[in-house]
Amino acid sequence: MADDGDEGWIQRCEIIPYFRNKRTFCQGVELFVYSEMEKAEKPKPLKCPCCGELRPESECCVFISQIAHDVPNKYYGTLDGDIIGNLYWLDAQKGKVDWACDNCLKQYQALRGKTKRQLFCGTAPHFAYFDKRTICRDCGMSFIFSKEQQVHYYEKLVFWVQAERVRCDLCQSLKKTRNQLSHLLANPDYNNLEQVKEVIAIRIVLKQYRQAKHFLAVAKRNQVTESISYLIFELLKKQIAEAELTDNSAER
Ligand SMILES: [Zn+2]
Ligand SMILES: [Zn+2]
Repeated sequence: MADDGDEGWIQRCEIIPYFRNKRTFCQGVELFVYSEMEKAEKPKPLKCPCCGELRPESECCVFISQIAHDVPNKYYGTLDGDIIGNLYWLDAQKGKVDWACDNCLKQYQALRGKTKRQLFCGTAPHFAYFDKRTICRDCGMSFIFSKEQQVHYYEKLVFWVQAERVRCDLCQSLKKTRNQLSHLLANPDYNNLEQVKEVIAIRIVLKQYRQAKHFLAVAKRNQVTESISYLIFELLKKQIAEAELTDNSAER
């Protein structure tokens, strides 16, 4: 890239505004060309989204090296082909990028993102992960989307980078359970006792006792095989009754 090293172009990019309307290529590097040079105000330190502190460039070395080497085609420059800045640096100034200062990374308040593992990426990748507090869409409680979970989602499961988590752990697993239930109920096999037990167990987890009893009754009626004993049904019936009895929140 720039011959004068990272520091050179980062400093120069501070004083030049950028315009996204024109694009060109210079030695295979995509450049966003600005039409007019203006002097902007003094370089501002970046606000670290993890600790919230204002950090000068000297305390953003990891981020600077990440945007320079990990994603090397996001520069903008002059018509002559001089590279003068990195788009992610500008995005970070606007608070639109997940990154972290050197201090947060050193203290493991943030984990460094591996941008090459984030395959589905519309805008900026995650340059760093830090715990994020969010409100759960289902229960309305606040929960933490931890940095470790984020690494797992975006780099192991390779989820879309812009996808944010919207449910807490409990609601997430309840949703999974509900999906499992509707899958089972789509085509229930009442002669498959394991399946009957599974449906009952899920209904109990979801505190749907009335539906559990109803399903058991239907299953009993639709049973054709002799081998399946009356005892198992009695046992399941007892299970539902007990769960309902010990559940303080259940409607009586
Ligand atoms: Zn920080
Ligand atoms: Zn929730």
